[in-house]
Amino acid sequence: MASGGGGGETLGGPRVLVVGGGIAGLGAAQRLCGHPAAPHLRILEATARAGGRIRSERGFGGMVEVGAHWIHGPSQGNPVFQLAAAFGLLGEKELSEENQLVDTGGHLALPSMCCTSSGTRVSLELVAEMASLFYELIDQTREFLHVAETPVPSVGEYLKKEIGQHVAHWTEDEDTKNLKLAILNTFFNVECCISGTHSMDLVALAPFGEYTVLPGLDCTFSGGYQGLTNHIMGSLPKDVMVFNKPVKTVRWNGSFQEAAFPGETFPVLVECDDGGQFPAHHVVITVPLGFLKEHQGTFFEPPLPAAKVEAIRKIGFGTNNKVFLEFQEPFWEPDCQFIQVVWEDTSPLHDIASGLQDTWFKKLIGFLVLPSFKYVCACALWVHCWAGVRVYGDFVR
Ligand SMILES: Cc1cc2nc3c(=O)[nH]c(=O)nc-3n(C[C@H](O)[C@H](O)[C@H](O)COP(=O)(O)OP(=O)(O)OC[C@H]3O[C@@H](n4cnc5c(N)ncnc54)[C@H](O)[C@@H]3O)c2cc1C
Repeated sequence: MASGGGGGETLGGPRVLVVGGGIAGLGAAQRLCGHPAAPHLRILEATARAGGRIRSERGFGGMVEVGAHWIHGPSQGNPVFQLAAAFGLLGEKELSEENQLVDTGGHLALPSMCCTSSGTRVSLELVAEMASLFYELIDQTREFLHVAETPVPSVGEYLKKEIGQHVAHWTEDEDTKNLKLAILNTFFNVECCISGTHSMDLVALAPFGEYTVLPGLDCTFSGGYQGLTNHIMGSLPKDVMVFNKPVKTVRWNGSFQEAAFPGETFPVLVECDDGGQFPAHHVVITVPLGFLKEHQGTFFEPPLPAAKVEAIRKIGFGTNNKVFLEFQEPFWEPDCQFIQVVWEDTSPLHDIASGLQDTWFKKLIGFLVLPSFKYVCACALWVHCWAGVRVYGDFVR
């Protein structure tokens, strides 16, 4: 059997393949590298670069994060934080104990300013009042973890029911009530972005409390997130990564041979789009869940056990994108960090998820002023939108 991976080496121990060269694949390879259980290690990466959804690029005159931006919960229990710290990629403030102890509870910090979609400033007191209500309700949704039966199936339905009850007691005029609902809708959008969904109605209520937030104030990489994956790559032997090798099929539970090692049998054969074949003893799959959802019917031969197929089907997966906006001059104050956008006439009680093709932009959360561009007026904004919309790149979270 022709092999794209053997190449005449002496096989003195298991051969391990990692499929996918994003941070999961690189992290797995780093752990395995040099381990006696994996003397022959390769990463098969579909594209010409490592890092996957971690990608920092020069743009707008500085460094821009196209994919991941923050280390969420940067503290000792977070392996990304540990790696970043070990590679010397974090500053004094990010490494400080004070920063690591901050407990945000997963609540978004209040914006520096808040505007409606027609440009009217919204009072930060009103935003704080709605944030307090929203996060009080979100904290309640986490209490159903070990409950036998939940009142409604999803987080979205629970929040809507509770908000509906609060609205009934609001005594303000209609305009103020509508503005409060539109502000609450912004927090719904934030939660959609965090959960990687276009509607909180798709997020099951019972297990929602399983998601725990690590302590630590979210931090960024001054030199770009990609410095992390570049450093992991640099710590691996040069021939470990094989680029431009999209894997087509993983044949497992078999008995495969390779011409270079006639006496050796391998339980797995990994086949690539270009016809390359890589026999192995073990394969670590790190391709995105979205890829597995689309291709698991043909990707594994024989198919995965029913329980695993069901798990892949059940776990949700959505699209997260960013849009970068550059302005001639700042319309924000010099110390402004985050500009929240409130889409007028939206309400969490009327989900727009079904009409997203036309109204996807109403899922935009706001604008993060990129620190290094404060004086050149660039903004980034986060959108969680439906899978068909390609706003900038086509990354999925
Ligand atoms: C816009 C955006 C913003 C984000 N912001 C944050 C953030 O601020 N903080 C945070 O923690 N996370 C963030 N994330 C999520 C984070 O980027 C991902 O969770 C993480 O990078 C996923 O790493 P991974 O290795 O699992 O997958 P990926 O990075 O997707 O890597 C998978 C790799 O597998 C390769 N591959 C796919 N199919 C095949 C195949 N058939 N054969 C071989 N190789 C294949 C791909 O080319 C890719 O290199 C963000 C994501 C996006 C899209």
